[in-house]
Amino acid sequence: MSSIEETLSIIKPDAIERNLEEKIKNFFLKNNLKILKSKKVKITKDEASEFYKVHQTKPFFNDLCEYLSSGPIVVMVLAGDNAVLKNRELMGATDPKKAEEGTLRKMYGISIDKNSVHGSDSVENAKIEIDFFFK
Ligand code: ADP
Ligand code: MG
Repeated sequence: MSSIEETLSIIKPDAIERNLEEKIKNFFLKNNLKILKSKKVKITKDEASEFYKVHQTKPFFNDLCEYLSSGPIVVMVLAGDNAVLKNRELMGATDPKKAEEGTLRKMYGISIDKNSVHGSDSVENAKIEIDFFFK
């Protein structure tokens, strides 16, 4: 079964810093995801804490929020067949060391915290995350 979905993608500070924006966007396009919206923003630590609040009890939460607010990021709405899962597959595992060959995190990720991209993990969370940046 296929269905057209939208999902939120973020190109994180480590990838923007290394000028990977165009490469990552082209990778999505080549893999049949459309980029419906895109903007470059810099968020505050408070905004990052709100965005990542599901992780607030994790030991890495503070570093994660510091990191996402440390420099410009590009936030995008991707759309296509099963876009949520598709984007997760294109990104690869959270830890670049465990990510499969040919995935974004394998190609560009530096470490588990500097893993270059974010993607929504469910249709429900995609709606919440898209609203967070584009409402
Ligand atoms: P994903 O981004 O693959 O959905 P999670 O939602 O589990 O992964 O975690 C959100 C982000 O928090 C990850 O992308 C990563 O940057 C960071 N993170 C996750 N686990 C760890 C960890 N053990 N140590 C440091 N940072 C982590
Ligand atoms: Mg996640």
